[in-house]
Amino acid sequence: MITLVRGFKDILPAETALWQHLEDVARQLFDDFGFAELRIPVLEQTELFARSIGADTDIVEKEMYTFADRSGASLTMRPEATASVVRAYIEHKLYAKDPVWKLYTIGPMFRRERPQKGRYRQFYQINAEVFGLEDPRADAELILLLMTLMGRLELSGIMLHINSLGCAACRPHFKEALRSFLTESTAELCSDCLRRREKNPLRIFDCKVPACKEAMLDAPSILDHLCDQCRSHFETVQASLERFQIPYQTNHRLVRGLDYYTRTAFEVLAEALGAQDAVAGGGRYDSLVKALGGPDQPGIGFAIGVDRLIELLAHQRQGLEKRPHLFIAALGTGAQDRAFGWLQELRMQNVRTEMDFADRSLKAQMRRANKLGAPYVLIVGDRELEEGSAELRNMSTKEQEKVRLQDLVEVVVNKTRN
Ligand code: ATP
Ligand code: MG
Repeated sequence: MITLVRGFKDILPAETALWQHLEDVARQLFDDFGFAELRIPVLEQTELFARSIGADTDIVEKEMYTFADRSGASLTMRPEATASVVRAYIEHKLYAKDPVWKLYTIGPMFRRERPQKGRYRQFYQINAEVFGLEDPRADAELILLLMTLMGRLELSGIMLHINSLGCAACRPHFKEALRSFLTESTAELCSDCLRRREKNPLRIFDCKVPACKEAMLDAPSILDHLCDQCRSHFETVQASLERFQIPYQTNHRLVRGLDYYTRTAFEVLAEALGAQDAVAGGGRYDSLVKALGGPDQPGIGFAIGVDRLIELLAHQRQGLEKRPHLFIAALGTGAQDRAFGWLQELRMQNVRTEMDFADRSLKAQMRRANKLGAPYVLIVGDRELEEGSAELRNMSTKEQEKVRLQDLVEVVVNKTRN
């Protein structure tokens, strides 16, 4: 038997109703907040990610699905969406058409991580990116969108963490402070972090090795090293969250796994998820567009881990499964033929209708109707056809009523509309 590739998964029909519900709620919300959808490819030139995400990140160092195309070009299955959205924004010169862009995209990402609960090699994200807004209210607006989505999905038990990562003016001073802290400390760092200590010490906050986590317990806080502009930006973000009663915690250890962030960074954590507790993360990336060859335009965005969100919403799955409105139990050749006609006619009226083509016994057909969960069954045999009527059975009250065949479609449409 040929099976799934390790770390990949199928999403079966029993689950897809919840996925669709989540996407519907998200699309509606993006609409309300003035976001337009962008669809981007899953395959990009490797250099796009190497240059944007950062060479010493876990993603670029060990997680990318990179391969040589038959022509020899190095291609990569996208591990995240922001780089591709920025590429598209630059490539199509969107900035020249409008100074502000609010975009969202939904789709799969690929990272060759160790598969475990909440960690897959193909997983799904909902991404939002805003270009051209420097105002801290734009940061708050985006976080507000994210938390409103969580609210509309009736998700509880989540916590928003926020931090500021400073800018090109103040971050170098913090990096220096962090480096001297780490050089003086006797704690053992993993070999990756020893290397990061020189090149990119902030990354060590994101290391999952227990010894490195411990080494960072008393690390200095970036919030004590922000320049005036970054501090005031962060204060406005916080004040805006308070204004809209969004609970949050500041967390000076929050750095995110990608290098391009500046100023605001945030994550939504859910305790119920266990070890992989991040449902969403994002932040501001004011230098990324320029770094990728575009104009000097600020950006800010987030990514929601849909697989983890679905896991948190699993208890909502039940009510979402679609059931037929009507099952037609047709007995005999003549009734089967008429039923086939009604099937199409009713479906054209948005009535989800099913029948059994095998013309089995009434008992077998009723069993099938029950299994499908149809609230109404139309029972029609050759005798009923002759009389010009059929029996419409309400499956929960067990009541049956006679319906004239000429009124059938209208009666059924009315019943299933309420
Ligand atoms: P983590 O710390 O869990 O590895 P991350 O910082 O690598 O997350 P991001 O790159 O910020 O994650 O991606 C945003 C969201 O995508 C995460 O918050 C998470 O919900 C989800 N995510 C990331 N990697 C995976 C994965 N391998 N499988 C499932 N979901 C993932
Ligand atoms: Mg990760």
